[in-house]
Amino acid sequence: METLNVTVWNEYVHEQSQEEIRQIYPEGIHGAIAKMLGRDARYNITTATLEMPEHGLTQEVLDNTDVLIWWGHLAHSKVSDEIVDRVVKRVWDGMGLIVLHSGHLSKPFVRLMGTCCRSKWRENDELERVWVIEPGHPIAHNLPEYIELPQEETYGERFEVPAPDELVFISWFSGGEVFRSGCCYKRGLGKIFYFRPGHEAYPTYYREDITQVLKNAVEWAKPSGGPKPTLGHYEPIEKVADKFEGMSDELRKHTYIKD
Ligand code: ZN
Repeated sequence: METLNVTVWNEYVHEQSQEEIRQIYPEGIHGAIAKMLGRDARYNITTATLEMPEHGLTQEVLDNTDVLIWWGHLAHSKVSDEIVDRVVKRVWDGMGLIVLHSGHLSKPFVRLMGTCCRSKWRENDELERVWVIEPGHPIAHNLPEYIELPQEETYGERFEVPAPDELVFISWFSGGEVFRSGCCYKRGLGKIFYFRPGHEAYPTYYREDITQVLKNAVEWAKPSGGPKPTLGHYEPIEKVADKFEGMSDELRKHTYIKD
């Protein structure tokens, strides 16, 4: 059985500083996600948090990570730029990245998108209905036509990101907003999936349907194993000039060969 190394990173601040959040996620959001995904023996799961040395994301950890899941909110600015460089480089080299909820404003995501990534938001306990709009997409595997989250934080367009390469979900909120809540991107050899639900005040990550989305996203984002392209100056593979040997000067003028 092929196993995948999944690292779940969480800033782990709300759960330690706010009792009401600790009650929902006593082992942290990372602990809940690790537990839900870890029921599948296919996934070898490691967790990492902001407070760990190098935020738990040493070069060795990242080199051994197939897919990195990222949750952050209050402490985006406390993530060291050196670690962000490391994460971004690994994505370019093929590591999958799944960015959750308020992770849309995390340094790695903003860097990889190249835009401010802001949106409208409010905390108002509204219903979120997450519509699957690409049922043939791998991230829609085994999902119903829509997922209803009875209470979530509301995000609203405009979501200031580049147009996704593929858009799998659109959310509607009972306050009236809509949001592109499942966005796929490719950067270098790496794949990035942004998934909106998962405000810390709600038990969203214990849900089976949300876990199915995360599993699908891990499968989609895992490294392809494709070749690493050579960039920069490159010698021709064919001996181009030899093919035109003996050609008249007149004909040669009409070819792309330079003297
Ligand atoms: Zn939130």
